[in-house]
Amino acid sequence: MTALPTIVAKAPRRFYIETWGCQMNELDSQRMAGQLMQQGILPTRAPEEADVILLNSCSVRDKAEQKVYSRLGEYRLFKRQNADLLIGLCGCVAQQEGERALDRVPDLDFVVGPARVGELAQIVSRRRQGERVVATGFPEERTYDIDAVARSGEYKGMVTLIEGCDKNCTFCIVPTTRGPERSRPLANVLAEVRHLLDYGFQEIELLGQTVNHWREPGGDLDFADLLEAVATLPGVCRLRFITSYPRDFTPRMVEKVGTHANICPYLHLPVQSGADNVLRRMGRGYTREQYVDLARQLRAARPDLALSTDIIVGFPGESDDEFEQTLGLVEETRFASLYAFKYSPRPGTAAPRLGAPVDPDVASERLQRLFARQETIQKEINLSLVGKEYDVVVTGWGREPGMQMGRTPCHRIVHFATGAEPADLGSVTRVRVAGALTHSLKAERV
Ligand code: SF4
Repeated sequence: MTALPTIVAKAPRRFYIETWGCQMNELDSQRMAGQLMQQGILPTRAPEEADVILLNSCSVRDKAEQKVYSRLGEYRLFKRQNADLLIGLCGCVAQQEGERALDRVPDLDFVVGPARVGELAQIVSRRRQGERVVATGFPEERTYDIDAVARSGEYKGMVTLIEGCDKNCTFCIVPTTRGPERSRPLANVLAEVRHLLDYGFQEIELLGQTVNHWREPGGDLDFADLLEAVATLPGVCRLRFITSYPRDFTPRMVEKVGTHANICPYLHLPVQSGADNVLRRMGRGYTREQYVDLARQLRAARPDLALSTDIIVGFPGESDDEFEQTLGLVEETRFASLYAFKYSPRPGTAAPRLGAPVDPDVASERLQRLFARQETIQKEINLSLVGKEYDVVVTGWGREPGMQMGRTPCHRIVHFATGAEPADLGSVTRVRVAGALTHSLKAERV
């Protein structure tokens, strides 16, 4: 009798993705993960175990760009143990660097810009056949397979409304790295939202660099119509959208935010500066007064609204007085949270020509003052919430044993004790706020 051959189980191939930057990049990483999983390549949390490593990069600030190159330097060492390892540079740095990245990092296998993410599976196959692929640029036809997205997280499903940006703010590299603005047709957006609802997501997050500038391609519908269409779909418990551009907010959009209870009372509305002269040099297209007035209208429509914002300190030519005006705006508007950064010159942008550079020590000192002011305001706001009850979506486990975390509809982080029965991740549980920290709330389950 002939002996049966021994079957040796082959370990599955693994991939590891590191993601920097905004929610758009987060969703692009989910799209890339989905394509690899369709090829039978499974995720790993350990880059040293991976057969494919993808760095999904951000180039909004210089630091993020330097970091991705230093990470590429670290990961290429893994090729000594695994000759089959493929390393890909993806995202905004990939678009910006293109061919140059292959010259700079000899072990880099391919480069994929944000508009070419849907082609990853073919790019990996082409590399396995020997080609070092550079897939950048903004083709008219783009692949977007909603079934090939590895939706991570139990509760939030993300949907892109707009790719790219046409605004050309003078400090920003996004129009170069993500290309001209393109809205997705409403029918495609609704199909993806329905798909996410069937999948069981509680919360839908609509994405775009200027999400409220969405327009039906070739039609008359605008973002207010889209909000109406998505918010009234059966099963949408929570609806968010990010990032809104102040100048593009219309009274109809404000009205929709006020009318639909399932639109979350949280809005990220980047102001960037509180001084009209700086806003003009930034090319933002609105004044401080217009911004403050919009915030007032939004709060009148939705009194429980939590506003967050972005601020750049040390923009070229920013004077002490202009910075003081920004502090004054923060004081007046009382943001629930604030993301502030020191200005970082980006290649090909106009801002460096629009004013003298601000001394880095002065910019650092301004940033610290801004954070200190905001922390006081934030703590005061959070303290005013003690005693209120919220339905929070359970998002994870706390650092301490017996604690869980969740998000309120207004997007605040809540820490609460699990009690006898821990709440399921992704479920909704009711809590009462018992204490306030600067960046989060402490609560008890009700
Ligand atoms: S709106 Fe301005 S800051 Fe925002 S992505 Fe477009 S150019 Fe950049």
